[in-house]
Amino acid sequence: MMMYSKLVSLYEDMQSTPKRLLKTYYLSEFLKKVEIEDLDNLINLIRGKVFSEQDKEKLGVSSKLIVKAISISTGMSLREVEDEWRRTGDLGLVAENLVGKKKQVTLFSTKLSVKKVFDNLRRLPLVEGLGSVEKKLNLIAELLTSAKPLEAKYIVRTVLEEMRVGVGDGSIRDAFVWAWFDKEIGLTYDKEANNIVFDEDKRDVYNEYVALVERAYNMLNEFREVAKLCKQGKKALGRVGIKINKPLKVMLAQKVEGIDEGFKKVGRPARIEYKYDGFRMQIHKVGDKVTLFTRRLENVTTQFPEIIDYVKKNVSGKEFIIDGEAVGFDKKTGEYMPFQKISQRIRRKYDIKKLSEKLPVELNVFDILYYQGKSLIEEPLENRLEKLRKILKETPKKIILAKGIITEDDKTAEKFYKDSLNAGEEGVIMKRLDGPYKPGNRVGGWVKIKPVMESLDVVVTGAEWGEGKRSSWLTSFKIGIIDEAGELLEIGKVGTGIKELESEGAVTFERMTELLKPLIIEEHGKEVIVRAEVVIEVNYEEIQKSTNYSSGFALRFPRVARLREDRGVDDASTIFMVEEFFKKQKR
Ligand code: AMP
Repeated sequence: MMMYSKLVSLYEDMQSTPKRLLKTYYLSEFLKKVEIEDLDNLINLIRGKVFSEQDKEKLGVSSKLIVKAISISTGMSLREVEDEWRRTGDLGLVAENLVGKKKQVTLFSTKLSVKKVFDNLRRLPLVEGLGSVEKKLNLIAELLTSAKPLEAKYIVRTVLEEMRVGVGDGSIRDAFVWAWFDKEIGLTYDKEANNIVFDEDKRDVYNEYVALVERAYNMLNEFREVAKLCKQGKKALGRVGIKINKPLKVMLAQKVEGIDEGFKKVGRPARIEYKYDGFRMQIHKVGDKVTLFTRRLENVTTQFPEIIDYVKKNVSGKEFIIDGEAVGFDKKTGEYMPFQKISQRIRRKYDIKKLSEKLPVELNVFDILYYQGKSLIEEPLENRLEKLRKILKETPKKIILAKGIITEDDKTAEKFYKDSLNAGEEGVIMKRLDGPYKPGNRVGGWVKIKPVMESLDVVVTGAEWGEGKRSSWLTSFKIGIIDEAGELLEIGKVGTGIKELESEGAVTFERMTELLKPLIIEEHGKEVIVRAEVVIEVNYEEIQKSTNYSSGFALRFPRVARLREDRGVDDASTIFMVEEFFKKQKR
C-alpha cells in the first residue's frame, strides 16, 4: 500500500518545473514503482481527479466547506482561516500553512495512505440527506488532521479539483510509454539537456508505442484502464477493442478553406455530407437497451427519450453502435434550428417529456462503428455507409441518414455545398471514401468547410463581478485555449455578446453566473478565478500576436456567440488551431 507522502513528492517534483519532458520523466519514474493494484486510485489522483469523466459522481465540494474543515482540523477559528485565505488567495496554501502551525503534537496520528485519501474523497458525493454536510466535513477534516503540511495542501487542491501541478493528458500518455516500454525502445531521458535519447534508430518504435497507447485511450477513455493494460504489456494493449456501452472518442474533422483543398485532403471521389448544427450523438444498442453519449462521452440517455424510441423502431439489429448528429427543428415550419436553441436539452433533469415536445430533434445518422459483435471501424467508409443503408429505415423528422453525395467533380461538390448553406446548414463535411473510422482523430480523413470565420471554443478561467445593477452577475470573462498536453493558455477576456435578458438560446449574464459561481476557487476584490469547466464559443475580428497572454495570441473584438454545454476543456480549441488560423488570415 502506497503512502500518500510518496504521491505528494511526485506532485512537488512535477510542480517544480515548467519543462514538460521533465514532468513526464518524474511521472514515469514514479509509475515504474507502482503495483498494479494501486493504479486504479493513483491514476485519477495524479490527474488531480477523484472521479474520471465517465464516472457519474461529481465531487462538488464548496470552498466554504473546506474553510470549515481546515478550521476544525487545525483548531484555528473560521476568522483566522479566512484571513489567511485572503492573504494568500489559495486554500491549498492556507491548509499547508495552518497545519504547519498547528500546536498540538500529533504523535499518535496515523500516516496517510493513498488508499485512505482516495476512499474518504470518494465517499464525499455519496453522503446524502440529513447531516450530510456534517459527514462531508468529517471526511475532509479527518484527512487534514492526519496530514503533514504539504499533504494538506494537496488534499485541499484535490478536493477543489485544482491541482496546479501542470501535467496534461498528453504528458500522462507519454509517461505511460516511458514507464512501461522504455526497455523495448531503449529510451532514456537526459536531464541535463532536457531531451529524450533513443537507442540507435528507435524513434519509430517510440512513435508506434505512443500511437498504441493513444489508440487504447481513444477506445476506453479511462487512463486507469490504459495504465493497467500497459503494465500487462504490449499484447494486452494491442488487444483493446470496442466494447458496447463503453463510449469511444468520436472522430473529428479538420478545417479546410474550400472544396478544392478538401479533395486534396480526402481524395477523389469523396463522400460529401451536410454539416448539421446540433449535438453529436454516439448511440449504443444491446438488446432492448439504448444508451446515448455526447461528443464528450457524457451519458445523456434520459434527456432524449424520442431518440431511444426512433432507434428501437427504425434501426434493425440486436447490437450496434451508430454515430450521428441530433438537430433541433421548428415544430410548425419544420425548419432546422441552430444548436443554441436546443442546447438546454443536454442538461435538463426535469420535465424532459415536455421539453422534448417543445424542442424536438431529428437524428441524422452518418456512421456505424459496430454491428452484431463485429467492429467496423477498420472498414472503409463506403462499406459502413452501405451497412447503414441496409439497417436504417428513414423517417423524416425522426431518424434519417445524413444527406450526402459521392462525387469526384468540383462543380457538383460546390453545388452541394451551396445547397447545404441554402438549407440553413453550417457547411459540409468531406470524407475519405476508403477511410477507416479513427476515434479521437482530427486528421484522419474528414474535413469540414464552413463559409464563416472559424470561431474558437474557449474555456472560462476567471471572471469579474459587474458594476451597479449588474453587481450580482459575473460580467467579464477570462478565456483560455489548450496546448497539446491539455494545459490551459490564456488568450484574453470577453464580455460582449452576452445579453442581460433571457431570450431563446441567448447567453445571459444570469446563466453564466449560475454556471460559474459554484466553480469559484479564489476571489480578489471584484475578480474571481474559477475552475476551468465552462466552454463558450467566441467570434472575433482577427487573431493577433500578443505578449500579454500565455498563448502568445490575443483576439481582436471577441464576442460571445454561444454557450457550449456539450463541450469540455479537452474539446477546447488548441494552440495549434490558433496558429493555423493566424497564418491563414495573413495570407
Ligand atoms: P466542429 O465541431 O466544427 O469541429 O465540426 C465537427 C462536428 O460537426 C462533429 O463533431 C459533428 O458533431 C458535426 N457534424 C454535423 N454533420 C456532420 C456529418 N455529416 N458528419 C460528421 N460530423 C458532422
